[in-house]
Amino acid sequence: MQVTTCTHARMSDANIGRAFTGDCSRWYDSRVQLHLPWTAPAPRPRVVTAGDHTFPVEVARHRLARRYILRVTAAGVVRVTVPRGASVAGGLAFATGQADWIAAEWARRSARTDWGSGTAVWYRGEQHRITCNDAEVACGPAVLPRQRASSGIRAAFQAQWRAEAAAELPGRCAALGQPHGLQPVRVQVRNQQSRWGSCSGQGSIALNWRLVQMPDDVADYVMLHELVHLEHPNHSARFWRRVAAVCPAWRTAERWLRMSGRDLL
Ligand SMILES: [Zn+2]
Repeated sequence: MQVTTCTHARMSDANIGRAFTGDCSRWYDSRVQLHLPWTAPAPRPRVVTAGDHTFPVEVARHRLARRYILRVTAAGVVRVTVPRGASVAGGLAFATGQADWIAAEWARRSARTDWGSGTAVWYRGEQHRITCNDAEVACGPAVLPRQRASSGIRAAFQAQWRAEAAAELPGRCAALGQPHGLQPVRVQVRNQQSRWGSCSGQGSIALNWRLVQMPDDVADYVMLHELVHLEHPNHSARFWRRVAAVCPAWRTAERWLRMSGRDLL
């Protein structure tokens, strides 16, 4: 399946309008993938699914390594170091076989970075300080019973917001595309670690649930961006002209994503 993804956060304004002829992988840079929300996978994405997460996998060779070494980064990337004589495919198979360990390691990392009273968290376009009392935990207008957060405040809000996103975003995305004749085959909401959205060659759009944390107009831009990929499966000048036509404020939204997007990950 051909997947079109977004890499344009790496493009300065000067780059926009320069021909970008369909090959997203030209913009792929594994060092950037760790940090930037808008990135594309390698032509054949290397991923491993563990628990309810899909992790991008990076394979590195090390001539002194005597065995496979697995690490889960704070950005949610699985890094496999492959010993001399072993193959990349072997490294991927090793990572896949360690899914339980990866899920546990990710849970441990997430627990360490749990939110507490006073943590600043984006929700619906504003940054709120988490407040807690014996009965409730609140992030601005989002309020949960305290017992829902027994295994972590962050996990509790994220589960809640992911459910909100699943209920809300597919319909909102279809409604945004409708006046422009941009109709996806389907819209799914996912827990992507490294992108805001993607559009497949088959006309299916996937959106990151974290869109509900953004300002509405930024989330709308992300959806319109993916909808325009239905017509232009690339980041060509024509693609960007069409984006500008359907979303005149797209540059402001891009700026928000560059400035604040990584706070959501
Ligand atoms: Zn894109």
